Amino acid sequence: MDKVKEVLQFIGLKIMALGQFLWTHLKSGFKKFRRWFKRYVRKLIRHTKAKDYSLLIYTIIAIIVFILVIVLLGKLFSHGKKNKDKKTTTETTTEIITEDPAVEAHNQMVAQANTIYQNNSELLVLINGSHPIAEGYSFEHYTLNCGEDIDARSHTDLVNMLEACNAAGNEYNIVSGYRDQTKQQQDFDDTVAALMSQEGLSQEDAEAKAAMSVQRPGYSEHETGLALDITGLGAVTLDESLASDATVAWLDNNCYMYGYIVRYPQGKTDITGVNYEPWHFRYVGVEAATFMHDNNLTLEEFYQLIGM
Ligand SMILES: [Zn+2]
Repeated sequence: MDKVKEVLQFIGLKIMALGQFLWTHLKSGFKKFRRWFKRYVRKLIRHTKAKDYSLLIYTIIAIIVFILVIVLLGKLFSHGKKNKDKKTTTETTTEIITEDPAVEAHNQMVAQANTIYQNNSELLVLINGSHPIAEGYSFEHYTLNCGEDIDARSHTDLVNMLEACNAAGNEYNIVSGYRDQTKQQQDFDDTVAALMSQEGLSQEDAEAKAAMSVQRPGYSEHETGLALDITGLGAVTLDESLASDATVAWLDNNCYMYGYIVRYPQGKTDITGVNYEPWHFRYVGVEAATFMHDNNLTLEEFYQLIGM
């Protein structure tokens, strides 16, 4: 303990001596500067009085240069500091992004959606009120026993789904599969005519309202052969009450396992532009359908997710 005390005392004395040394020298330096400054000012006054302005001009120039140098150094210093601050902020933000579990989960979801899209882009074709079917769109047809056509790529999954539906005690009726543009035009015109006569709507209003349930020709998924309207056996009209139909309810709950989505779900009319249609199923493949089902996404929202 004594040794430590001695060492501390020694260091303390040395620091004090250093302070004294610096103080003495600063004091004498300052005194010297003051003397030089006084002499300089006197000289300056003398020269100016004698109408010799050269020293005054040099002095002014020297002061300006001095100020400029100080400002420049200050700027350089503060700029470097700002850059450093900026860098630190960016680093912190990146850290937050990678550490926030919600953001991390979202990024993973986007990556997964992109992979799914790359693997199934043809089956994921987006057809809605603002995305018409491409001109010359064609696909391999498969005609079902009931006479309806579908896209052949969906056949195996459809058969498996309908067999499972039957096995669960539900009989089904395939109301509509592929429709060509002529058939779609006919359905649309029929709906418009009905709305005009039954509800007294103008042609324009009737068309707008019809488009909420029957798509305009060129804008219907049924023209791709990837959409199917399926109900139970007793169903007469296609309306929301079908949601409680046992067959439709079973299909709504299980279709994703066979690559189908409920294309126009309840509560998503603002996004799809179409009223709730529990009977309308759209084939997108098992991978995409499962992803959309698990994340509660419509096809429109899926496209939003991948930034398309
Ligand atoms: Zn449909």
